[in-house]
Amino acid sequence: MWPLAISGVQRCPARLIGTRTIEGRQPWEAHMRDGIVIVGAGQAGARAAEELRKQGYAEAIRLIGSEPHLPYERPHLSKEYMLGREEIEAIFIHDERWYAEHSVELIQDTVVNADLSAKTVSMGTGARLAFESLLLTTGSEPRRLAVPGAELSGVLYLRTIEDARRIRISLKAGGRSVVIVGGGWIGLELAAAARTLGNDVTVMDAGDVVLGRALGPEAGGYFARAHRAHGVQLLMGEQLAGLEGAEGSVVGAVTASGRRLPLDVLIVGIGALPRTAVAESAALPVDNGIVVDAALRTGHPSVYAAGDVANAYHPLFERHIRVEHWDTARMMSRAAARAMVGQSVSYDRIPYFYTDQYDISMEYWGSVGRAGFDQFVWRGDPDDGSALGFWLQSGHVRAGMSINIPKMGKLIEALVRSNESIDVEALVDVDQSLESMLPAAESA
Ligand code: NAP
Repeated sequence: MWPLAISGVQRCPARLIGTRTIEGRQPWEAHMRDGIVIVGAGQAGARAAEELRKQGYAEAIRLIGSEPHLPYERPHLSKEYMLGREEIEAIFIHDERWYAEHSVELIQDTVVNADLSAKTVSMGTGARLAFESLLLTTGSEPRRLAVPGAELSGVLYLRTIEDARRIRISLKAGGRSVVIVGGGWIGLELAAAARTLGNDVTVMDAGDVVLGRALGPEAGGYFARAHRAHGVQLLMGEQLAGLEGAEGSVVGAVTASGRRLPLDVLIVGIGALPRTAVAESAALPVDNGIVVDAALRTGHPSVYAAGDVANAYHPLFERHIRVEHWDTARMMSRAAARAMVGQSVSYDRIPYFYTDQYDISMEYWGSVGRAGFDQFVWRGDPDDGSALGFWLQSGHVRAGMSINIPKMGKLIEALVRSNESIDVEALVDVDQSLESMLPAAESA
């Protein structure tokens, strides 16, 4: 549980609103003004608080989240934790002592709206809290099924520690029939874990290929082959039409083509939606997330957003992008913190993520999506165990990934940043060095 977690309103010395003093506060804190309120106590919120203190910010920092845990890293939930190779204690970003020592107040509550003229946020408990600056790191949440039977018990989603515990309990003994709706990152990481633990696994996805939207057909096809080779049944081009129940629990899935799949475990990973309710309550610009500039600032000069929820202008790609991955939550929120203490910030980090499935360790740098490339090439053959893959548009590398080849980040990032078109024949030739393809300054 959180060290300073209390329900209700937190004391803000300058002005507030039915507050109560937190016992045990350091004497110097009596001078704190309203400071910074961070809404969302996940990876992004915790990293922002850490960066604020690192930058010498000495006013109050209040980190508000609704989960009854210290901030934690979600990527482990579908990988090491699910496989039983790591316990929950390993995923917390800091221990309780860190928050106390750095005077970061953790408040377990749900912010329901923000009033930008009064500079307050209101919480589910009815409490209000004043701020000088506000950071919204509210993240994203799983899209829910909207089919008959979606309300049955046993329909499992993955976001929180509690969700992961439920899924792990369902999978860990093996021998169960598992149906996974959605062949995206959650679907495939959990399919790999479920197979590794000895379950029968079927993945259903509406597209032609798993990970089609994220990676396109060639790279998606590689992951499809890997899952089939491990015995996963992939049902592509199949929509879920409904769920069947017995005594209130899900026992079967029915597809739009009429196929009926009896099951013991149903897991849903059909995408995530940005949690924009607080931003909307404050009439901040929202369009596929909270719209922010390259300094992570919203339309209001004292309000910032970062992480999954932020649709941020990217100076290199010259467009707004919203990235739902761990590294963006970790790094964009730090940049937002620096902007909030007055530094000049232009967040142009190349988006990065990784996945571990079976013996595949994949890393990706860039941002293309389904429509952002006109050519995909392999350098090497991933079916032989390792390779690089590149997405190009008009001869420029827009993204790259490594399959089981560590430490490729600097080179692939430099290729993505390079403004020169590339010799594709040389790019795919494993006998030619990638360094030689970089502009002189970057390879030096
Ligand atoms: P996701 O990666 O966007 O994949 C969702 C998949 O479900 C897509 O293939 C989608 O197809 C399919 N789909 C959507 N509606 C469907 C339906 N009604 N029936 C069948 N298939 C359907 O989302 P996710 O796997 O749910 O993950 C949620 C978020 O967590 C994502 O933002 C993801 O990036 C993040 N995450 C990241 C990692 C990582 O970085 N390693 C791991 C886990 C989760 P279409 O694309 O055609 O709609």
